[in-house]
Amino acid sequence: MNLDIFPEEIRQHIIPKPEGNLVYRCLGCSAEFSIEKLLYVCPDCNQVLLIHDKNEAALAKHSGATWQKIFDFRKMLKIPALKGIYRYHEFIGSCIPLSSILYLGEGHTPIVEASPNLKGKTGLNFFYKNDGQNPSASFKDRGMASALSSIKYLIDQDLVSDVIAVCASTGDTSAAAALYASYLRPLIKSAVLLPHKKVTSQQLSQPLGSGARVFEIPGVFDDCMKIVEHLSSQYPVVLLNSKNAWRILGQESYSYEIAQDFDWDMTDKAVVVPIGNAGNISAVMNGFLKFHKAGIIKQLPKIIGVQSEHADPVYQYYLEPDENKRCFKPVNTRPSVAQAAMIGNPVSMPRVIEIAKQYNKESCRKNVFFIQVTEQSIMDWQLTANQNGHITCTQGGECLAGLVRAKALGIVTKSETAILDATAHAIKFSEFQDLYFKKQIPDSYGIQSDPGYINLPDLISPDNPDLVPSQEKRLEKADFQRFVQEISGKIAKKLNL
Ligand SMILES: *Cc1c(COP(=O)(O)O)cnc(C)c1O
Ligand SMILES: [Zn+2]
Repeated sequence: MNLDIFPEEIRQHIIPKPEGNLVYRCLGCSAEFSIEKLLYVCPDCNQVLLIHDKNEAALAKHSGATWQKIFDFRKMLKIPALKGIYRYHEFIGSCIPLSSILYLGEGHTPIVEASPNLKGKTGLNFFYKNDGQNPSASFKDRGMASALSSIKYLIDQDLVSDVIAVCASTGDTSAAAALYASYLRPLIKSAVLLPHKKVTSQQLSQPLGSGARVFEIPGVFDDCMKIVEHLSSQYPVVLLNSKNAWRILGQESYSYEIAQDFDWDMTDKAVVVPIGNAGNISAVMNGFLKFHKAGIIKQLPKIIGVQSEHADPVYQYYLEPDENKRCFKPVNTRPSVAQAAMIGNPVSMPRVIEIAKQYNKESCRKNVFFIQVTEQSIMDWQLTANQNGHITCTQGGECLAGLVRAKALGIVTKSETAILDATAHAIKFSEFQDLYFKKQIPDSYGIQSDPGYINLPDLISPDNPDLVPSQEKRLEKADFQRFVQEISGKIAKKLNL
């Protein structure tokens, strides 16, 4: 690409150089640790970490308007390392040289306006951001691109070798981890732990297909997580769960993309995300905060976190209005169609508490909200969205159910525009659609199939069973004519033609 076509004041900044001074910072005691070690919790107080750029003041070298221009022009580049989340290199892992960056096609997912019919049904203006259009079909690829690039960076400097990466998963983390790790074969091997029968068959096929070692464990996600934590404290393994602070850093790209896609104008915007382990909502808030601090956006959008009534520890925590009286209690989950968010003890809870506090403060008002929705509404709104041109998973259905509930509660109004996270592709969760259509969702979910949404295939056979073509036995010409006519007639009748 000919850099001469870029304006002169942008040209020298268009290809980022490794800079910044990144450290792990503990959310409990604020202690800082080198990123050259593999670290997931504070060795002093055991709290989770975030990555902090000690040289963050240097981001003020450009005005917000200049940063906007840099990112808008960078969009034209054809350098693979800068095509994904690292378009925002200075904000997303500034110390990583382009040569260590993994790019498998993640990020810059489409923002699709709700269809006119769907807008009519909800009475709201909104868009879906389709993170199911990432390489492994969920948003987890954003954090994985960041985590695996950070590991490649350590490998390239001979700081680690023979890496074995492990994670626990509600399905999508393991699909993403296995994919990105397999790209770095033979430098890295991966193993994933899944709760037995608590991920969809599509999600199970993904890490198997990528060649990872897959272990199924009895129990739920929270149980798998404890085993992975134990493994990572006892053995030299790389932890790829969102406890890994690089995951959060990569997922901040979601916010940067929304800002850029709306031409940096966040006035009257609300961003709706489902909450499971709470890594994503932490990242989304943190991303907007960083762009706000750098003057790239002038307003902070409203953040709405949504949980199912069957897995709602974050919602329960915020029910107490008095900040000083709030007390976090894990919940026992019940079966949820928003299975990827079915978590009772979110690892990132301390991150949410800290970042939401900052977010409200920077917004000069309460700007982060938590909504609880029913299982029934999750399924019904997912089906409604998809029957109106969208491709959202059940967690995206949860977002839409949450938006509708937020409107009923007066938290969002008609004058605002919402951006809903379709966190995975619909096909990953088609099993729930199947069960719904066949009226086979187990009672424990608390969902009744509404006949208005049910859609099942209709087998059309000729009256004469001998008049059926098969691969082995083709019909005579005249018989085949009769077959075509009879079947067409039956279909025409069904369609009232
Ligand atoms: C992981 C996941 C979630 C939950 O995200 P957290 O960061 O764990 O809160 C929601 N939807 C899908 C599809 C996921 O894979
Ligand atoms: Zn600490």
